[in-house]
Amino acid sequence: MLKKFCLGSFKYIGKKVDTLAYTFKGGMHVREYKNTASSPIERVPAPKTVAIPLAQHIGVPCKPVVAAGDYVTYGQVIGEIESGLGCPVHASVSGKVLEIKVVINSVGTPIQHVVIENDYEYKRGEELQPFPKPLEETTPEELVEVARKAGISGMGGATFPTYAKLAGAIGKADTLIINCAECEPFITANHRLMVEQPEAVIRGTEIMRHALGLKEGFLAVEDNKPDAIAALSKYISDHSLPLKVVTMKTKYPQGDERQIMYALFGKELAPGKLPADIGCVIFNAETCAAMERAFYNGTPLVKRVVTVDGDCIKTPKNIFAHTGTSFLDLIEYCGGLKKVPHKIVNGGPMMGNAQWNINGVVTKGTSAILVFSEDFDNQTSLEENNCIRCGRCVKNCPMHLMPNYLALYSKNLDFREAEAMSAMSCVECGTCSYNCPAQIPIVQYIRNAKADIRAEAAKKRAAEAAKAK
Ligand code: SF4
Ligand code: SF4
Repeated sequence: MLKKFCLGSFKYIGKKVDTLAYTFKGGMHVREYKNTASSPIERVPAPKTVAIPLAQHIGVPCKPVVAAGDYVTYGQVIGEIESGLGCPVHASVSGKVLEIKVVINSVGTPIQHVVIENDYEYKRGEELQPFPKPLEETTPEELVEVARKAGISGMGGATFPTYAKLAGAIGKADTLIINCAECEPFITANHRLMVEQPEAVIRGTEIMRHALGLKEGFLAVEDNKPDAIAALSKYISDHSLPLKVVTMKTKYPQGDERQIMYALFGKELAPGKLPADIGCVIFNAETCAAMERAFYNGTPLVKRVVTVDGDCIKTPKNIFAHTGTSFLDLIEYCGGLKKVPHKIVNGGPMMGNAQWNINGVVTKGTSAILVFSEDFDNQTSLEENNCIRCGRCVKNCPMHLMPNYLALYSKNLDFREAEAMSAMSCVECGTCSYNCPAQIPIVQYIRNAKADIRAEAAKKRAAEAAKAK
């Protein structure tokens, strides 16, 4: 049930949604910079060559199943998982495989890439067929397999394999939520998708609802997207579907799964637990659209909407880009640069990763490419000072952590103490760093601590496995 205190002002499907009461504790209001909110999604031709990474999801990387010299069709599987968690990877163009090469990605991990020379024919393989049964006659297991075969992973940035999330929630989750918050500044990819293709998002949501065997579902949108709320609500109303659009207050990081569950239902997730443990399952809006394309057209996940923006970009745009397209190609499609770039970010400015290589490529998780000049990115030129104990980071942390102490312990390489203070519960939203008057890169320190904690845990597991042999 939706939070009781909200029900007085909340009106359901087909009527104006007039409440602003759905929100969470902590967080902050950031300047939105939604410059591309009115920029329609443009379909761009894929470049002459695409370099498609064989790891675009959480889990084990794929092994290539093609070789240099092979001809591949659009949507053909080019990388497959041998065992463990992961998604297959498909060709985003048809053409000849030029090579399979290892490239260091933005976080320093060497990843195999399949480089394909585009023949511009986009010849589809015959295996790409709509699912042969109507949705009502399809079983949950068949829908899990549709998601797996199409290589769909969470498109909000987390890239968790969708088939695994769906399979884990069947019979366990009683609440389906579609994350349409898109709370990061600059990014409008989901927003445009909801305005222009509400049917794709809603039909995808219906597929998820059917797989889960649920009677209803909720689409959670921030109140800064009234046109998206109207488009989704109209489609739901026109088709008399058992879905509700819930308007949430615009606040960062409202798009975090925990904050959505709290905002809508007052449900809190204990550290280390998954939404399914408290009966919820949450999919991103574009993930639902990808599921719709997979089920009704047989098309795997080889394209996604990317916002290209930042003060260096001549004409910021939303682009429906092929995976494997380089950031440079996207920037050129936006008219190139008008200022000297200082920082390129893959994703939003709060949670995205700074890139060292402009030839990085679009993957299933790339929601935005942002290019900033030194003037804009002036935070980086300010020096880190000592903590003045103002408490802002503590007050605003949506996870109710003590970011000041976590940063201090990490800076002093006391990672065990950071672990004891729940460093692993940090969702890396960046709210603490953004607000810190001492310019302390708190979230970076916490990321370092988390990396060490994970490495220690891996070492322990390896030692235990060796002992057990
Ligand atoms: S400590 Fe983590 S969760 Fe809390 S504000 Fe900082 S980045 Fe966000
Ligand atoms: S916001 Fe910065 S200065 Fe203030 S308590 Fe936190 S770490 Fe210290």
